Amino acid sequence: MEHTGKHALVTGGGTGIGHDIAVALANAGAEVTITGRRLDVLNDVAATHDRLHALQMDVTDEASVRDGVATISALRGPIQICVANAGIAEGKAFSKTTLADWRKTMTTNLDGVFLTLQAALATLPADTPARMIAVSSIAGVRGLKGAIPYTATKHGVIGLIRGLSEEYMNTPITFNALCPGYVETDIVRGQLPGLMRRFGVDEDGARALIAKGNRSGQLLEVDEVTAAAMWLCSDGARSVNGQTIEIAGGQV
Ligand code: NDP
Repeated sequence: MEHTGKHALVTGGGTGIGHDIAVALANAGAEVTITGRRLDVLNDVAATHDRLHALQMDVTDEASVRDGVATISALRGPIQICVANAGIAEGKAFSKTTLADWRKTMTTNLDGVFLTLQAALATLPADTPARMIAVSSIAGVRGLKGAIPYTATKHGVIGLIRGLSEEYMNTPITFNALCPGYVETDIVRGQLPGLMRRFGVDEDGARALIAKGNRSGQLLEVDEVTAAAMWLCSDGARSVNGQTIEIAGGQV
């Protein structure tokens, strides 16, 4: 797969799923801007590859996204591949979820994807082929208990992608959502201490409890999500549009 000469943007590209996708795109020849709030993390990753470029950009901040995307497109060209991946996952019972919790997840996971896609689309001259990918979740296609704001935002991301695929019909731009099950990243690792305390298990036991949430009973690895993203960016996927791709080890 050849992406030489293209400029890709991967939000949350300094860690986890976003990092793995960013490296794969850079290895395929794209100039890849990786973004996040922690510039030190991004700089360390950018130092590992000539075609990875760090940009501090908070997806909850409209000016940060619009100015950031305008700056990088002036430097490296229109965003022909956009992976709106940045997100947070915070669990709590619904009865204990505050409006502040709800808004924090909404602002990051849904407003963030809205702003990212709109800013990326604004860089594209008419008739420029592009691939817009949002990282949703299995929580975008089914409900997850204890994670109601997360579930609502990930459903929202799919609505955004489906609507955009209709609005941009008959253009060479596709919009698709990736819906991974549980993947071994910081989001999953961050849940281990709480599970260990709650269920009196060791780290492997806590990991096994999360893995049970995948039908296969196995945690996914980031390269499995990357493979789907790279396929969506390939020429052969040019007619795949408005889809939700489940990568979950079984039916959701
Ligand atoms: P990570 O925690 O490794 O990645 C999340 C990334 O988002 C980080 O790089 C973080 O960077 C960035 N981010 C968070 N908030 C903001 C913000 N306000 N502005 C800019 N960047 C931000 O976890 P994953 O790789 O697992 O998560 C990536 C995506 O995959 C998320 O959308 C998540 O919901 C989704 N997902 C994950 C699954 C899993 O099991 N791991 C399953 C299904 C979906 P920084 O903190 O520096 O800002």
